[in-house]
Parts: sequence; structure tokens; C-alpha cells
Amino acid sequence: CIDCDDRQSGRAGLGAVMGSKNLKAIVVRGTKDLEPSDPDALLEIALRYQKIMEAAPSFIEDTKYGTGEFLGWINKEKGVFPTRNWQEGVFKEREQIDPYYWATRYVTKNKACFACTKPCGKLFEVKSGKFAGVAIDGLEYETLYSLGSTCGNASIESVARANEVCDLVGIDTISAGVTIGFAMELVQRGILTEQEVGMRLTWDNAADAVPKMCEMMGNREGFGDVLSEGVKRAAEKIGRGSARYAIHTKGMEPPAYDVRGMKGHGLAFMTSTRGACHLRAGFYAPELVGKFWRWEGIDRFSPEGKGEKVATMENFMCVYDSIGLCKFSRGFFLIDKLREVIKAITGLEFTEDELLRIGERIHTMKGNFNVLQGVTRKDWLLPPRILEDPIPDGPSKGSKISVEEMNRMLDDYMAFRKWTSDGVPTPEKLKELEIA
Ligand code: SF4
Repeated sequence: CIDCDDRQSGRAGLGAVMGSKNLKAIVVRGTKDLEPSDPDALLEIALRYQKIMEAAPSFIEDTKYGTGEFLGWINKEKGVFPTRNWQEGVFKEREQIDPYYWATRYVTKNKACFACTKPCGKLFEVKSGKFAGVAIDGLEYETLYSLGSTCGNASIESVARANEVCDLVGIDTISAGVTIGFAMELVQRGILTEQEVGMRLTWDNAADAVPKMCEMMGNREGFGDVLSEGVKRAAEKIGRGSARYAIHTKGMEPPAYDVRGMKGHGLAFMTSTRGACHLRAGFYAPELVGKFWRWEGIDRFSPEGKGEKVATMENFMCVYDSIGLCKFSRGFFLIDKLREVIKAITGLEFTEDELLRIGERIHTMKGNFNVLQGVTRKDWLLPPRILEDPIPDGPSKGSKISVEEMNRMLDDYMAFRKWTSDGVPTPEKLKELEIA
């Protein structure tokens, strides 16, 4: 992980890249003021949106409960909260890991990024019991799934301790939890034995086993060494058909959305240049709510029209990443509002199409980088569980993404982007974007 002010950037292993180069830290110190092009306009926009955001229900709930405020809704109403290594879509034991339970019991203060007025971070402290002394900035929605539901771990104090260990040893909580959940299913199926793993890595012992295994992974101790490089490499080392139960795309473990019941988001897991990711397209929100920005009536169970939507969202999110705006404000600052902000800060005027084209150029360059690294369509594909095992119960019961649906969505996406079916940007597209 890369650590900054109690927050960690863990996904995709950038901290490991720094470590491999003996780069310990990056320190930035500014000596000059930042002068916006139009300070009055910028202040007016900031105050206007502050009022709009403060009145929004999501702002109020996020401030009280953090990013997991909709966990209960995703779990119970939508049935797409991955559980026990994605064998189920509803975590029936979810009570304790729901922020509506723990926020009033364990949170001692709100925490926000610099200058943010919507503090989705929480100081979570355990004051007594086996995990007394745990104090973390969390617990974040994705971690409640990865170290919670997908490991069958219903103990919020155990999830908090495992989160703390991950932060201290520098591993991503999503990748760590999904990899442990994978090993737990292998134990359930008798592919791994207790003797081999060196502990009782079972669903009914999750509260003890999950934090312990996080430590072992961080220290590359015992079986933790096998799991320490994530689910894809662990499956390669273990063999014995274990890859059938490994959940990843492009080698990255997925976040907390069971895409069997959110097919466009499943496409976004495939098209994300860094592997299964909820942030490259942010397509979970449009599918769960059924509408966003330009689109109404989005059917999360249908693959139709998802190629264009996911590609457009990726372009939009590239603009967000370039500006450095928090994506939790994307429902407020759509592309037309970004134009206003960019103009006030830089003095530069862009049309919506020009901004989306900049986003497309960024995404295409990332795609080209992957091509140079030898990534091909076979690396994009969804894992067997998504394609072969329907969600067994709950509101999304019976849903999966068939191979035909997967290929249709991918083909639609490639056609919209003018990339080859193997995921290579065409010379015409590169020329059109002036990056040939
Ligand atoms: S900037 Fe975003 S991530 Fe940071 S506290 Fe505010 S809402 Fe949360």
C-alpha cells in the first residue's frame, strides 16, 4: 500500500512497486500559493455546491455511516453482496458489519481528506475484548465485504483488526480478503487441508482466522506466503483445480459487487485496465439505481447497450481522476459542472465532448500500455464462478453472466471504442485521438 494520513492506496500493488525500487516515501512541500484563474467564481461554485451537497440524503448518510451506508440495501434489496468467496449474494449474518450497527458503538470521530466537508472516514476504536486497542480509519464498504462477508466473517471487531493488520503490513484489504476467502472455500471443498494451511481456516472460525492469516500473508509466514501474491498466483501454486474458485480479472481481486446480478458492472470488471475494479467506470451506481447522467431505465440483469455506457463512464472517470476530484461527488459534478470548475481554476474552456475525448485518450493510452505488456482478450475474461454458477438465493437468485453475454458485451464495447476484438486500439482510433 501507499499510506497517507491514515489512508491507504492499496489496489493493484503500487506500494509493492515502490518497495521493489527501495522507494520509501514521497514528500511534497509547496512554497507558493495556488492562484485560481477566477477566485470569485470558484468561491461561488464551492459555496453553491456545498449547499446542494449538504442537502442530499447520500451526503447525510455518508457523514453518519461512512461508505458502507448502503451495505444493507445492496445485501438485502439487491442481493449482490458477495459472500463466502462469491458462493452467495446475500450475507445473512450481516448485522454487525453494517455501519448502522457499528457507527454508534465504535466510531469516536469523523475523519475527512484535506478540505473535504463530507467526512466519509471514521475513527473506529475497539476499547475492550480480544481486539482491544484496534484503532483505524475505517471501516470502508469494500473492506466490510472483503474481510467480512466474503470470508464469512460476521465479527466487526475481527474485521477491524484484520483491516489494521493489512494497513500495518501494507497489503490491500480487498485483495487480502478475497484471497483468504478463496483459500477458505478450498478448505471447505477439501482441496486444502488444515494441516497444509496451518490453522483452522473455516467459515465458522473466520473471526480468529482472518486477522491471523492477514498477518501471515504480510510476513510471508507459512501458508501466508502462498496467498501473499493474490488469488491468481495462489491458484497457480496450489493447482488441483483450485483456479475454478479463484475470482479475479487480469489478476486483480474484485470489489464488493456480485456482477452476476449487475451485468454492465461485470463488463467494467473486464475492461478496467488494472483488472476487476469498481472505480475505473463506477458503473455499479447506474446499475443499482437504474439511472444516471444520460441514461434512464438501466436494467442491471441485461447485457444490452452496456458496451457504450461502460466505455463512456470510463472516459468520464478518467476526467475525474485527472482533475483529482473525489469520485464520491460524481453524482453532483457531472461533466457539464466540471467545465465550470475547470474554467474557474484554469481559465480554460472545454466543451463536454472535448473533456470526454481527453478521457478517451487517457483510457486508450492505458489500454495501449496493457497491449505492450502482452495483455490479450483471454486476460479480460470473467472467472468461472460468474459464468457458470448462478446466484443461489435472494433478490438476484438465478442470475449469472453467460459466456455468450460476456462475449456480446465485450464485442459491443470494442466496437464502440473502435478497438480490435482482442482489445487493441486500432491505428485509425489512435490517429483520431492524436496519439498515433
Ligand atoms: S474527499 Fe471523498 S474520500 Fe475523502 S473524506 Fe471526502 S468524500 Fe470521503
